[in-house]
Amino acid sequence: MAGRVSVVRRWVLAVFAAAACAAGTACSAGADGTADVTVRMVTPAGPSPTPTLPPGVSPTPLVPPELVVSTLEVYQAGALLVSVTGDVIGGQVQFLGRKYPLTKGSQSQYTFVPVDTDELPGQHELVADVRLPNGTRGTLQATVTVLPTQWTVDYLAFTPEQTAALLDPQVVADELALLKSIYVKVTPQKLWSGPWLLPTQGAITARFGEQRSVNGGAPSGHHGGTDIGAAEGAPVVATNSGVVVLARELRVRGNMVIIDHGGGLYSGYAHLSSIAVAEGDRVEAGQLIGAVGNTGLSTGAHLHWEMAAHGILLDALRFTDGTNGF
Ligand SMILES: [Zn+2]
Repeated sequence: MAGRVSVVRRWVLAVFAAAACAAGTACSAGADGTADVTVRMVTPAGPSPTPTLPPGVSPTPLVPPELVVSTLEVYQAGALLVSVTGDVIGGQVQFLGRKYPLTKGSQSQYTFVPVDTDELPGQHELVADVRLPNGTRGTLQATVTVLPTQWTVDYLAFTPEQTAALLDPQVVADELALLKSIYVKVTPQKLWSGPWLLPTQGAITARFGEQRSVNGGAPSGHHGGTDIGAAEGAPVVATNSGVVVLARELRVRGNMVIIDHGGGLYSGYAHLSSIAVAEGDRVEAGQLIGAVGNTGLSTGAHLHWEMAAHGILLDALRFTDGTNGF
């Protein structure tokens, strides 16, 4: 079970730590034993600009950056909320070989860092490169453990007629490409706030990441959303605030709404019987966006709920059950 752990290290302390363990050795500043966080400072080459202040105004010292990670133990298909507080004007976070730009939030620069379904469990370094208003650059680090998720398997027996009736793989691929082209965009504003809400009430009928075994074959694929069973016409609400970037009928997902929450995070709602918003609408958390339905490739009324960060589909339930640490 991933605990709610914050990684907080003061910049000044970290500079001492870096001095104390020079000569290329790893620098751990885990004085309280909760986490290892390494911080390095890089002073830009060349002369520093001389600040000019009005007479009588004394310079305000910079608030040193602090790295805050929502949890140090994250599950496959989970997400980390990584924030850098203090006087930071921008930067990026690197994790598992990918880079994510920081987005300006209300009190920090932040990004949601996705962990894909097939990421290798174990310890991985997370690195935040930040820029300060005076031109200084710095690096903050934390060690994050990826925990394995046990995927469920749905065993299906299809007749040849049913197999023939399945949608053309090209149609499925084209739709995935359309969704991906939306999910990879990063709107450089925070459009969400507060907790993430369940978009409808009902039993979970298929979990995120569920694999399929057809006619006794090996389990394959991963279900890209969370299915919530509910009656046709039941209300579907926005999991958080944002801007509607898609509200139209698709072949596989039927009537679908996608909300941009800013900073590369999106939520999607599929198989709707009706859509209550239009593309470009700004919506609040809990606002009605449509109704549960059975449109597209679906065998009964349910909501297929997707969450994606930086183009990677994630387990939406982990945004509401606390296992992501936020
Ligand atoms: Zn589904």
